[in-house]
Amino acid sequence: MPIWNKEMECMPREEMEVLQLRRLKGALKYAYERSAVYKKKFDDIGFKPGDLKSISDLSKLPLTVKEDFRDNYPFGMFAVPMDKVVRLHASSGTTGKLTVVGCTQSDMGNWTELVARMISMTGVTSADVTQIAFGYGLFTGAHGLQYGMERVGATVIPISGGNSEKQLMLMKDFGTTVLVSTPTYALHLGEIALEQGIDPKKDLKVKFGLFGGEAFSEEYRKEIENRWGMLATDNYGLSEAGGPGFSGECHLICGQHIAEDQYITEILNPETLQPAKPGEKGEVVITSLCREAVPVVRYRTKDVSSIDYTPCDCGRTTARLSKITGRTDDMMVIRGVNVFPSQIESVIVNVEGLAPHYEIIRYNKGFLEDIEVRVEINEDIFIDNYAVLEAIEQKLKHQLFKTLSLNPKVRLVEAHSIERSAGKAKRVIDMRTKS
Ligand SMILES: [Zn+2]
Repeated sequence: MPIWNKEMECMPREEMEVLQLRRLKGALKYAYERSAVYKKKFDDIGFKPGDLKSISDLSKLPLTVKEDFRDNYPFGMFAVPMDKVVRLHASSGTTGKLTVVGCTQSDMGNWTELVARMISMTGVTSADVTQIAFGYGLFTGAHGLQYGMERVGATVIPISGGNSEKQLMLMKDFGTTVLVSTPTYALHLGEIALEQGIDPKKDLKVKFGLFGGEAFSEEYRKEIENRWGMLATDNYGLSEAGGPGFSGECHLICGQHIAEDQYITEILNPETLQPAKPGEKGEVVITSLCREAVPVVRYRTKDVSSIDYTPCDCGRTTARLSKITGRTDDMMVIRGVNVFPSQIESVIVNVEGLAPHYEIIRYNKGFLEDIEVRVEINEDIFIDNYAVLEAIEQKLKHQLFKTLSLNPKVRLVEAHSIERSAGKAKRVIDMRTKS
């Protein structure tokens, strides 16, 4: 399978580190001289860009957080005047103010290049027809995938999110071979297809799914692949660190290749914020090496993963990010045990009789926190068949205990009773009262 940019994607490790160090020195100098925010951050600890001698010196610098973007809304994080900015993107958070990022012409070029690499890794080529079912708008996802697809030469159908019937109609009529969406939407769309008498495996030609926007488990991937008869790959990126193109899985599905020539990735222990041991899971922290409009130095993603630096069998030498298993924000501490929604998901998908649609309700129980797991049963099981339901419930409880060492409350609910989403699914519902 062809590699889009052999020079960068197959560079020997030592050479890559030399390139990264050289670019990092330049990026820190650039941020210090052009951004008031970084100048202050560096000055506060008495750090001059010239003080950096090795990549590991990066850990001496303060972290950058989402609040930095919010506090400097709208353009305080920008390192170029507005006449150099050709694009603005923003993401909204739960707390109101937008996180605003921008691109120069050069940033747009780099972005397109990185997404083209990521797409080529999955096996998608100029012969493919891609339906982009991410919502267009201020989010980077849909746009980034479109640029990369067009650079690779694939045909793009920019249908945007939602409108499932039209999605299916175009898939049939235009001969779509690639679906770009959130994993939640892929599963939902597969369900609607079946309801309409369309078997995605037989009646449609979709053979690749490029999924992003939310973390999903291996079991969830299998469920999508089985339903669609496709290769489902995961990719990762966030607007503060350049959007999609940061990392993505190759067709071998063994971690996400990171665009290391343009980003340095650290993994930090979420509690101590010190570098995690090699291979250990921790919070992903990103430093951009080439971004002009909005460079980031040590940006805290709050996403949890680990890095593998060994070369991949696909021929690429770039380090690989393991599947994102959750966000440090999503981590629940239930009776002293750290629990991520993704762990619960992987249990649910493996219990026969359950559909992969669930909600986790967080609530108070006295001074402690507890959770209730609500899961849909498969539609071929009758909700009044108590013996069968009882058996499924026992199995689920048993498996949850095996995985979490906890006995959360479990409730089986009717098929299709949990709200579906065209974007990210809302898995966790917080019913805790503040004390
Ligand atoms: Zn690979």
